[in-house]
Amino acid sequence: LVARMRNFGTTIFAEMSALATRTGAINLGQGFPDADGPPAMLEAAVESIRSGGNQYPPGPGLPELREAVAAERAERYGLAYDPATEVYVTVGATEAIATTILALAEAGDEVIVFEPFYDSYAATIALAGAVRRPVTLRPDGGRFTFDPDELRAAVGPRTRLILVNSPHNPAGTVFTREELETIAAVCREHDLVAVTDEVYEYLTFDATEHIPLASLEGMRERTVAISSAGKTFSVTGWKTGWVTAPAPYVRAVQTVKQFMTYTSSAPYQRAVAYALGNELPWVEELRKSLEAKRDRLISGLETAGFTTFRPQGTYFVQADIRPLGFTDGFELARALPEKAGVVAIPSQVFYDDAEAGRPFVRFAFCKREDVIDQAVERLARLR
Ligand code: PMP
Ligand code: GLN
Repeated sequence: LVARMRNFGTTIFAEMSALATRTGAINLGQGFPDADGPPAMLEAAVESIRSGGNQYPPGPGLPELREAVAAERAERYGLAYDPATEVYVTVGATEAIATTILALAEAGDEVIVFEPFYDSYAATIALAGAVRRPVTLRPDGGRFTFDPDELRAAVGPRTRLILVNSPHNPAGTVFTREELETIAAVCREHDLVAVTDEVYEYLTFDATEHIPLASLEGMRERTVAISSAGKTFSVTGWKTGWVTAPAPYVRAVQTVKQFMTYTSSAPYQRAVAYALGNELPWVEELRKSLEAKRDRLISGLETAGFTTFRPQGTYFVQADIRPLGFTDGFELARALPEKAGVVAIPSQVFYDDAEAGRPFVRFAFCKREDVIDQAVERLARLR
């Protein structure tokens, strides 16, 4: 294995899901829903296979999906993208993140990431030979946010990209307009490109609005925005995502992607195009049910003795383990199947500053109510 990848071993999600399988524990670790997406969308994928949609689609994606994405961006955010040149379909958001970073960061360039950061950011920045510059999100009034001065101090002469994940996994933060304005000002001032991971864009709670960074002044022209059907339509195994960006950035992504996977799976694209046009009411029901599940999990975790941070979006809760007398989230997560029959993710793995992440574990609530109830009943034994 090349030196720059040697620190990356096995992803925490694979490790913890294997632990859940091995021990029979309830898996509130890896974030995947335990209910399927909209039935008519599933049917559309089956129908696409039956009707011969099984050969290579065009590299940029099926025109019908690119058109559906452009229509959805325009309708939902008032952002106009040309489906022919400014929308590109990828193998999930993961490939979109990787190809964007590989396409835009030179070896030695610096990439700003807010920590805790989704694990693939660090690995793909390393793969590119670039250097990550973390800016830490810290608890402030029950929610994780950043210090604008720390963000400004992180920018240097080699800074090229800033990765912005909102709604944020695992912190649950949805950046406010004010926070986004701070980020946008830094981008404009230092001529940075923003890469926005918006995979949880539809999953926000308490009437919190998701604001795309590209919608702020001067940002559309310097933002590569990333979405995924996996989260929006509860089909994480379909690995269908997309990039929307100005044409030069899309061409850069294309140059890299065409030699990685060339194109993305055809039948799912047809089904997702259908869903973007017809199943957004279903997504609103999903959102509402997740909001109720969030409240259910939080109340159970608080009863069990954790301090929780109420997420404004995503399907994850970060919990502080210190009130229960534990200090190290990694140790607790490894012992949790045996102690309580539950699997969680130690948030520490998403931090460079291990101290900042040590007291937190992440629980997923994209699960049936009875599964959540059983998990919190078990966690109550930790006291
Ligand atoms: N970004 C974030 C913040 C995520 O949580 C995930 C996955 N769960 C991804 C990207 C990857 O999405 P996909 O499965 O579409 O590759
Ligand atoms: N994004 C999901 C999570 O955060 C899982 C993704 C994965 O398994 N790589 O849990």
